[in-house]
Amino acid sequence: MNKSNKSYLVVGGCGFLGRYIVESLLARGEKNVSVFDIRQSFEDSRVKFHIGDIRKKEDLLKACEGVTTVFHTASPTHGMGYDIYYSVNVVGTEKLVEACVESQVKQLIYTSSSSVVFNGEDIDGGDETLPYVQHHIDPYNKTKELGEKSVISRNGKNGLLTCSLRPAGIFGPREVQGWPQYLKAAKEGKNKFMFGSGQNRCDWTYIDNVVHAHILAADKMVDGSKIPGSIYFITNDEPINF
Ligand code: NAD
Repeated sequence: MNKSNKSYLVVGGCGFLGRYIVESLLARGEKNVSVFDIRQSFEDSRVKFHIGDIRKKEDLLKACEGVTTVFHTASPTHGMGYDIYYSVNVVGTEKLVEACVESQVKQLIYTSSSSVVFNGEDIDGGDETLPYVQHHIDPYNKTKELGEKSVISRNGKNGLLTCSLRPAGIFGPREVQGWPQYLKAAKEGKNKFMFGSGQNRCDWTYIDNVVHAHILAADKMVDGSKIPGSIYFITNDEPINF
């Protein structure tokens, strides 16, 4: 990956994925990297931190000043109620899109989720032609769909190019929402639980692949390419037995 002359803002940059995107940009020598988050989880003198709430446009406008490329990775953690998901993932995303348009940001890359097409039924070999589901199994999934639609519908407005990336469950070092619980269960000897016949396969996406997809989207999303207005699933390769 090559250094660019862009200025990056990682919204949710203090989270698991966001911080890796920040580190990846810094590792290739990017000089203009900033973070917008409701909390600060790490220190780095090369990064400008904007502490604010994505639901407040005035906070976002300050952070978007002079920025060319925004990665939107913010979302409430798993297991919360519809209201908080709606306010951050839908209202907050809408405000971020408005702030990007008003601030003449050039690129907005949204982190969506493969769960927007999942209603609990098996999906085998699914691709981006799959429709959104009628009934989501979880309020998080529904609000990720609405956030994605909001981002994609603004592609091309005031020179803003947008795309959406849909990883499956993300795993890797520093992940704290899912895998530590599975490890704890395993250490406690709770390893006899089985879904269905035991032949089920499930998609997970390794953190480096998710980061790579985000950086590629930023590097390649130019007018006239296929990326603006597009949505992509981000997978490892083959699903794994689960
Ligand atoms: P995370 O919880 O580690 O990071 C999210 C960040 O968003 C946190 O730093 C949090 O402080 C910030 N945030 C939350 N509410 C905010 C608000 N109101 N204003 C500003 N910042 C706020 O989550 P993650 O695992 O890094 O996930 C990143 C993105 O990837 C999310 O959009 C999530 O929906 C998506 N995603 C995650 C997974 C996964 O398995 N972790 C899978 C698919 C998609």
